[in-house]
Amino acid sequence: MKKVLVVEDETTIRNLYKEELIDEGYEVITAADGVEGYELFKKEQPDLITIDLKMPNMNGIELLDKIRREDKIIPIIIYSAYGEFTQNFSTWAADEYLVKSSDLSEFKAKVKELIFGKQH
Ligand SMILES: [Mg+2]
Repeated sequence: MKKVLVVEDETTIRNLYKEELIDEGYEVITAADGVEGYELFKKEQPDLITIDLKMPNMNGIELLDKIRREDKIIPIIIYSAYGEFTQNFSTWAADEYLVKSSDLSEFKAKVKELIFGKQH
């Protein structure tokens, strides 16, 4: 079973993503900030990571940078309420930058595509 790490500081949103991704057939582990996210990245070796940008302790850009220094391959999705950081080169190290929406279908499709490749 493919393992997804969700790093998101808002509990309600974090749990929502978790439920939705479990329904899609993934094992899901969650972290509430960048510090915890980094620890789980090291310990759990997930197949994909989704990262929120605005979080306490260590924000999403710092976390992305820290992970990419060690792992250039693992698929990473930035999933943020704010589109403004698409212009920030720090976020270009992510495979995908999605703006949060109440409709999670695009999010779930990207997770699938990045783990399994494009479906033909
Ligand atoms: Mg946040």
